Amino acid sequence: MVRVISVEHHRAEATALLGTRTPVRLPVAGCAGLILAEDVTADVSLPPFDNSAMDGYAVRAVDVAGASEDSPVELPVAEDIPAGRVDSPPLLPGTAHRIMTGAPMPPGADTVVMVEKTDGGTETVRVFAAVPPGNHLRRTGEDVQRGTTALTRGTLLGPAQVGLAAAVGLDSLVVYTPPRVLVVSTGTELVTAPNPLKHGQIYESNSVMLVAALRALGCEVETVRSVVDDVDEFRAVIEPKLAAADLLITSGGVSAGAYEVVKDALTGAGVEFRKVAMQPGGPQGLGRWNGVPVLTLPGNPVSSLVSFEVFVRPAVLASMGHSIVDRPRVRAKLTEALRSPAGKVQFRRGFYSHVDGEVTGEVGPRGGPGSHLLAAFAQANCLIVLPEEVTEAPQGAEVNVLLL
Ligand code: AMP
Ligand code: MG
Repeated sequence: MVRVISVEHHRAEATALLGTRTPVRLPVAGCAGLILAEDVTADVSLPPFDNSAMDGYAVRAVDVAGASEDSPVELPVAEDIPAGRVDSPPLLPGTAHRIMTGAPMPPGADTVVMVEKTDGGTETVRVFAAVPPGNHLRRTGEDVQRGTTALTRGTLLGPAQVGLAAAVGLDSLVVYTPPRVLVVSTGTELVTAPNPLKHGQIYESNSVMLVAALRALGCEVETVRSVVDDVDEFRAVIEPKLAAADLLITSGGVSAGAYEVVKDALTGAGVEFRKVAMQPGGPQGLGRWNGVPVLTLPGNPVSSLVSFEVFVRPAVLASMGHSIVDRPRVRAKLTEALRSPAGKVQFRRGFYSHVDGEVTGEVGPRGGPGSHLLAAFAQANCLIVLPEEVTEAPQGAEVNVLLL
């Protein structure tokens, strides 16, 4: 007997199967898109020193207290401090240092007059405005205090986060990397373009789809685009490739007919085949082959991609340390009535649209429930989720939608 289990159950088992990947240290520049595996402590403050936020003149506020358009204060310019100057010439009372943005504030100065409020002089400068102490000053540690946590583990490293890591002087980070995935399409009927089709053959498309979906998660992928429905051949071609993979994903050969090559080859080899209470994507398998995690997806293209969305994507993301593994979920009103089989979660391909300012969007199906309707999927931007107990959803009903 084939076990029937819930979507949640299979998804939880797939996630547990993949587990969490071993963190590795990578150069900061290669970490964008990955999850940080360790807290990052700042070894320097940001800014590391008090510096000027403007091009202008470092002065003492008391020395320019009386300055105005009509009666400017004139000060001798004692030093020129471009960004990058590493000595610290002190500012003497009654003098100014010409200073550039990012240059260190000289000891003795307490404020900056922006160049626009002066005559820009280099020997002496005429200051046309009084400024309070602390003007245009960026203080040490204002952004990050040395010794504090700059980035916490579990953070998704986007451009700002890798930028911050670089700014606190790190050249590498400990992150979770994506798995290397071996994608295998099975089916004696499969032909890869541009080879011509004979009657009874079809073009192989699942591996292309699955590779695209995996690459979008950052995975490195190797592909075997078609293995014939022969158990010995399947084992002979795939088994030697397992060593280089962290995950094997197969398509096809797992349902109830004859010539179910994946099922026949992997039953008893560590993979369990079951039926998940969903449509499409009922036949699923999961386990380990020679120690390598295996998820076996059904061959119908829509079933394959829906299975990827529901099981593979969240499991792979979780293994990469992501805490958010779900697609964004919204509520939407059905533009037409839908039927769904009792006792199964139905994932219908849909098109979601949302008018700005309105709380609930609208969703309409693209194509029928048939799991071969790939062109309809190609017009969809979401999956409409009809729970197990729902058999009819009338037009106007509010349904859950997963935005792809
Ligand atoms: P299976 O799960 O092997 O019984 O296949 C179910 C259906 O999906 C059949 O109509 C297959 O021809 C089709 N199919 C299986 N694998 C692929 C593939 N890689 N690309 C396109 N169609 C496929
Ligand atoms: Mg097949």
